[in-house]
Amino acid sequence: MKIMSINAGSSSLKFSLFDMDTNDVLVSGLFERIGIEGSCYTIKNSEFKIKQEAVLNNHADAVKILLDKLIELKIINSLEELDGIGHRVVHGGDKYTDSVVVSDQVVEDIIRFSDYAPLHNPAHAVCIKAFREVLPNTPMTVVFDTAFHQTMEKDRFLYPVPYEWYENYQVRKYGAHGTSHRYVSKKVSEVLVKDDLRIIVCHLGNGSSITAVKDGKCVDTSMGFTPLAGVVMGTRSGDIDVSLVPYVMEKEGKSVGEIMDALNKKSGFLGVSKLSSDSRDIEDAIKEGNEQAILAQKMFVNSVVKYISQYYVEMGGCDVLAFTAGIGENSISTRAEIVEQLACLGIKLDVEANNVRGELTCISSKDSNSLVYLVPTNEELMIAMDTLALIK
Ligand code: AMP
Repeated sequence: MKIMSINAGSSSLKFSLFDMDTNDVLVSGLFERIGIEGSCYTIKNSEFKIKQEAVLNNHADAVKILLDKLIELKIINSLEELDGIGHRVVHGGDKYTDSVVVSDQVVEDIIRFSDYAPLHNPAHAVCIKAFREVLPNTPMTVVFDTAFHQTMEKDRFLYPVPYEWYENYQVRKYGAHGTSHRYVSKKVSEVLVKDDLRIIVCHLGNGSSITAVKDGKCVDTSMGFTPLAGVVMGTRSGDIDVSLVPYVMEKEGKSVGEIMDALNKKSGFLGVSKLSSDSRDIEDAIKEGNEQAILAQKMFVNSVVKYISQYYVEMGGCDVLAFTAGIGENSISTRAEIVEQLACLGIKLDVEANNVRGELTCISSKDSNSLVYLVPTNEELMIAMDTLALIK
């Protein structure tokens, strides 16, 4: 069976086509700068890589080129060979607790939840509509990034604000990166052949979030009403005292929108280091003794440790601490700095085992109180697996 997973952004469309018998990627690619000048696409697999400019006025243009190319490149002989398509959707509000088959109602809901994810949900809806138009008979599903976090109890997902804000406007914690947290915690359970585990998943990338998973279910997560909350990120501040918003607005004569923009796009690693949002640049600058980069890294590590220790207590312990995403999978030094601060909980790394990037590996020492794992995330495969389960 062949299933394609789709991840549409406001001006991009990422895809991976899987052979579900082997879980191998047959082909993957990215359409970029949709609706803006300089549009192009990349399609690749282990045998070839094509990069080409193209007129991409909207997502429908990208969908058409993608499907034509799959046939032209002989990846498939006809569109009937596509057994299913799974769409990643950032926000499913509090309605969707699991992945679902696409229907008119689902598309309507995705648009309705755009208030919570204004950059992403409208683009997802446009892209799903474009695929449904060209492939009206192909089964399609939606995999919500918020769904995994819907098992949180009320005392974890509510904010201590006037209760009417929740009743009237659904102000609450929704979380994000749910597909990654679900994939990683599931993988840990498979590797250890055990379901009743307390797992803390650290998804550390450009956007970062920490999730406490007990017996396969999310009990708490660091991102909040939006993905701005939680730990320090590439360009996002993570948790702050909201009072600084009106304070800086008044000092600089700026609007709420401008301050929110600064908190989303000019804060985190970038804001503190004054250098870069990319942890590789921060690591290089640290080696040269750059004080701002050292400070940014310390603040990032502190914020991650704060959440790990909170979730350790919340779950009454931790069987497995799992690192994933760009930084979690690749930054040997960041993993070491985080676990070093957890010594009082008896969590320890094996320095040699930790000398690894992007491979499923147990990196804790033999006498560590919790296992520590590096687990490469694979949101695309998770989407394809959900799609397969739903269409079967
Ligand atoms: P993601 O959002 O998961 O793609 O992760 C992006 C982040 O991962 C960026 O901050 C990258 O600098 C970081 N990253 C990727 N590769 C490495 C590496 N080899 N060492 C350190 N950080 C890395």
